[in-house]
Amino acid sequence: MPILRSAFISLSRNQTMRRFLENSTVGRRMSSRFVAGKDIADALRVARAVNDQGMAVTLDSLGESVSSEAEALEAAEIYQQLLEQIATLKLNANISVKLTQMGLELSPELAERIAESLVKHAHSTGNFVRIDMEDSTLTQATLNIVRRLHARPDLRGSIGVVIQAYLFRSQSDIEQLVADGIRVRLCKGAYKEPAEVAFPNKADVDQNFVRLSKLLLDSPVYHGIASHDESMIEAAKTFAHKSVIAPSRFEFQMLYGVRRDLQRKLVKEGYNVRVYIPFGQEWYPYFMRRLAERPANVLFLAKNFFRS
Ligand SMILES: Cc1cc2nc3c(=O)[nH]c(=O)nc-3n(C[C@H](O)[C@H](O)[C@H](O)COP(=O)(O)OP(=O)(O)OC[C@H]3O[C@@H](n4cnc5c(N)ncnc54)[C@H](O)[C@@H]3O)c2cc1C
Repeated sequence: MPILRSAFISLSRNQTMRRFLENSTVGRRMSSRFVAGKDIADALRVARAVNDQGMAVTLDSLGESVSSEAEALEAAEIYQQLLEQIATLKLNANISVKLTQMGLELSPELAERIAESLVKHAHSTGNFVRIDMEDSTLTQATLNIVRRLHARPDLRGSIGVVIQAYLFRSQSDIEQLVADGIRVRLCKGAYKEPAEVAFPNKADVDQNFVRLSKLLLDSPVYHGIASHDESMIEAAKTFAHKSVIAPSRFEFQMLYGVRRDLQRKLVKEGYNVRVYIPFGQEWYPYFMRRLAERPANVLFLAKNFFRS
């Protein structure tokens, strides 16, 4: 793993730096490139603006690894409000949820109970809950919960999950998820993983991403291909074109503030695009993972910071 990527991922877990930056004006100004704002109202305003540009959104209320049931319930309440507001405002939006924010590390039963209530709510308003994927120690527990909820006839189709191309296990996970009819978002993976479970080389991750994209595109289920990497996107477009898979049968997904030019280009070309919009106070770990993906962003942010 390149040194800078590794350093930013380690920094994402540094509590002193986190407390300092999350409470400082400088930190908040820097993070605004990737984070919609602090409140639900900020998220809804940005979602509307992105919808107006012809793109769907998925909303992420930032936070992970809560330390009490009360915190998990509080985090869930924000998502319940989002689902309500999305329906009232008729936004083209769904929600992305991290199970550690719903208490997965405290009690898998608690996280499942909360996920169930969110999926029930989403189902009742014709919406959808995407369960984000966190580090590999949580992959199996996350998939178990998603599979159990999807198997319920009253919730079917309203829950999906994320698979990371850097993990060795992902092909077999995708085969099972596709057989079950579960919607998948494919991404490369944003955590620091040991060589026993994940491809250490980027070239292998990229190759696996292309292979897994093809499996998803070939299936009858509507999936998301999440990447800013033009070669990943081109590979998916070429495969879909050759296999006569209509652009309406899948979507590309990208993060808010990243490659906006490419997002707009894909919309112009007639592809479905969904933008992942995070918001909330706890932006620090998310922000550091974005810097890890592209350390040059530090220079970019610094330049814009001093310009504004
Ligand atoms: C919608 C969405 C949801 C995601 N959900 C998850 C999840 O649930 N779990 C998880 O582990 N990971 C998730 N990720 C993150 C993902 O795993 C990658 O870490 C991230 O997308 C970077 O990989 P890449 O495919 O864009 O390609 P990379 O090979 O990292 O980058 C390719 C090119 O894209 C551009 N780029 C990439 N990242 C940035 C950036 N931050 N800023 C500016 N330019 C950039 C650069 O031009 C770079 O050269 C998600 C990503 C997206 C887009």
